Amino acid sequence: MRIVIIGGGQAGGWAAKTLRDEGFSGEICVVAEEAWDFYERPPLSKASLLEPDAALPRLFSEEVQQNLNLRWYRPQRAEVIDRVAKTVRLSNGESLAYDQLLIATGGRARLPGASWANHPQVYTLRHWQDAQRLKQRLAQSQRLAIIGGGWIGLEIAASARKCGVAVTLFEQQPALCMRSVSRDVSAHLALMHRQQGVDIRTGCGGLELGDDNGRPVIQCDGKRETFDAVVVGIGVDLNLELARNAGLNIAQGIVVDAQGRTSDPAIFAAGDVAQHHHYGLCIQSWAFAQNQAVATAKAMLDPQAAGYDEAPWLWSDQYQYNIQILGIPSRGSETIVRDNALYFSLDDNGRLTQLVAFNDARTVKLAKRWMAAGRDLSDVPLADPTFSLMSLR
Ligand code: NAP
Repeated sequence: MRIVIIGGGQAGGWAAKTLRDEGFSGEICVVAEEAWDFYERPPLSKASLLEPDAALPRLFSEEVQQNLNLRWYRPQRAEVIDRVAKTVRLSNGESLAYDQLLIATGGRARLPGASWANHPQVYTLRHWQDAQRLKQRLAQSQRLAIIGGGWIGLEIAASARKCGVAVTLFEQQPALCMRSVSRDVSAHLALMHRQQGVDIRTGCGGLELGDDNGRPVIQCDGKRETFDAVVVGIGVDLNLELARNAGLNIAQGIVVDAQGRTSDPAIFAAGDVAQHHHYGLCIQSWAFAQNQAVATAKAMLDPQAAGYDEAPWLWSDQYQYNIQILGIPSRGSETIVRDNALYFSLDDNGRLTQLVAFNDARTVKLAKRWMAAGRDLSDVPLADPTFSLMSLR
């Protein structure tokens, strides 16, 4: 029995580990574009940029990974899946047969236009090597432009400020992180960054990139500004081509059931490319990449396995704040704010759809239980700081 995993990221790594933890003794082949062992991405925008001797943030120790007994195909690309022959063709021409296949191909960083890729001082942050390059440049920079006020942009802004670099952040939407949080939370994030000296420009469409003797120039609303470097964090394009060309069912991402199974029963998908079976979205977070991959790997071995059943959850560390986002905001509903630290969104039935918490992991833990139980919170004085939320345990 042979399982082939395409993708050497967080999801691919956790799937491989889980297969072994669950007692799978057959062959596991991992096709990966990068040369490195499995590593974590969250540190890339933080510790990997800030610590002088930051090492590859390995997912597993060398010993643990060795014991997984994997057959690596790296650096290699999987180019074609032949579902009838049950093979994957690799970029070196080799053909790899599978009994079961897991697609965990992740995504690639977007750029505003093709010409941006050609400027040597334009950076994206997706891989370990990107972090190495950016870290070197930050050490020589005084002025950094960040394009995109999403999670990547904000985390890099916080790291750059810690290094003493002046930051100007350009976001095309009227507010920060608009896709994932409510307006009140966006406003909180903006204030937090402005207090740290970040120059935030929202609502700036149609940015143009120029050059001034090797230094990048950003033109926005007729104004031209020169920087030492530009980092782009405007979202990712998911690597769906393999799955699409293989004729698998695709919507926002690869359509899977709770067990991670695609429209082909021998093929599973995990991580960023797998669409959340309940929310119909691709939840591009660390927690989803890990836990959905774990659930999927279990289901590959046992069709009766429970499957994945967690609400979206992500965290972000910026300055002295640990920000946790549980769930997704319900459009149009008002946010209930408590102590400028907790932001609750409820649906029409009083059920929690999102909680954003600044430095309050305890309430997030509690809220996970409210969400799972579908608890009606409409009569609870959530905004009242004298009311003990812990009394709702
Ligand atoms: P993101 O969170 O989707 O944010 C990108 C932002 O850039 C959006 O507000 C987007 O607006 C804006 N934008 C798009 N095109 C633009 C342009 N041409 N000029 C200016 N702004 C533009 O994406 P990201 O920050 O690049 O992160 C990539 C993925 O990694 C995301 O899925 C993110 O959730 C994930 N991530 C997670 C964490 C974490 O969990 N802590 C940390 C880093 C990254 P529109 O909405 O209009 O496109």
